[in-house]
Amino acid sequence: MQVYADNAATTKMSPAAIAAMTPCFDIFYGNPSSLHSVGQAAKEKLEDARSRIAGCLGCEPREIYFTSGGSEADNQAILSAARLGERKGKKHIISTAFEHHAVLHTLERLKKEGFEITLLDVRQGHNVTAQQVRDAIREDTCLVTTMYANNEIGSVLPIAEIGAVCKAAGVPFHTDAVQAVGHLPIDVKAQNIDMLSLSGHKFHGPKGVGALYCRRGFPLVNIIEGGAQERGKRAGTENLPAICGMAAALEEACAHMDENAAKVTAMRDRLIEGLSKIPHSALNGDPVNRLPGNVSFCFEGIEGESLLLLLDMKGVCASSGSACTSGSLDPSHVLLAIGRVHDVAHGSLRLSLCEYNTDEEIDHILAVVPEVVEYLRNMSPVWRDLMTGKRQFIL
Ligand SMILES: *Cc1c(COP(=O)(O)O)cnc(C)c1O
Repeated sequence: MQVYADNAATTKMSPAAIAAMTPCFDIFYGNPSSLHSVGQAAKEKLEDARSRIAGCLGCEPREIYFTSGGSEADNQAILSAARLGERKGKKHIISTAFEHHAVLHTLERLKKEGFEITLLDVRQGHNVTAQQVRDAIREDTCLVTTMYANNEIGSVLPIAEIGAVCKAAGVPFHTDAVQAVGHLPIDVKAQNIDMLSLSGHKFHGPKGVGALYCRRGFPLVNIIEGGAQERGKRAGTENLPAICGMAAALEEACAHMDENAAKVTAMRDRLIEGLSKIPHSALNGDPVNRLPGNVSFCFEGIEGESLLLLLDMKGVCASSGSACTSGSLDPSHVLLAIGRVHDVAHGSLRLSLCEYNTDEEIDHILAVVPEVVEYLRNMSPVWRDLMTGKRQFIL
């Protein structure tokens, strides 16, 4: 049995999304900017995809700008608000300590340019409150950017409340909703969201495509120059196959949102209940306001990387939830942000589910994870020190 439980990293494409893409390769292959009929047929497909996506978010089609993914949308949204702020002499930005690196690294770049960045503390309840945002807003705040839901630990933020706080204070509000779109109901107008980032491959659409919703009237700046595509705000020939695949995937996800969420939440809760029985373990993330598919744990006395390798050998594809790229041994900034100490943060496991997972797969995970954790603990010197009292348990 092979179980794919890494849907927060990326998802399998849905058959409907694949079916929506194929005619774009050989029938609607025109350049949407061409004035002839082949180009105009492609243009029609493009605008149809835009309307479908707008319909899922509760905005107007002209408020949707296609990008190469969630990262680009995050960069463009944050830089746009920063440039507007600069012109008004406002150079303070509020965000959270557990954002995706697409947000955090863009903020670091702005910090080098003289912006002041406040990262809200997420240790309390592994989440932020609208009150924290209210307390952090200053005269010179030009942007609040908080994620909609965390990709590592699954916490869902109080977006409507944060949106209301920002609206009342007259501060632009951007949300990286890459983990939420297609999974949670979103209404950008009701939630007072000025800008929102989404990515196709997190809801069974293709990779390399995403979108930025930007409220009409908010001045977007280009980060890619070159042509008049996307109302002059994002140059480059549109990736029509991917855009059509993304629109089909999103419509499908939104049409089945409630039933998918019910199914995935039930599997998630069974996993959380089962894995909580492992001694010296702790659930990461908000236990109540939580993504339907997210299960994130720390197990004391083990290395997350060894756990992943052994799980893979037993047919479970998971993630440590750490941004442990290029062999860096730094634990996840998200786990450190919620207050996990280095040793504990290293023993992390993220299982992220989708509606394609089955109860049999959950049984398999529940059989395999406790076994592998015990096996690793039995050969861990850290675990021996914990058991002999040379080292104190934290969890
Ligand atoms: C995946 C992800 C991104 C990046 O999206 P890409 O389309 O892969 O660039 C940004 N933010 C969050 C929260 C994500 O989960």
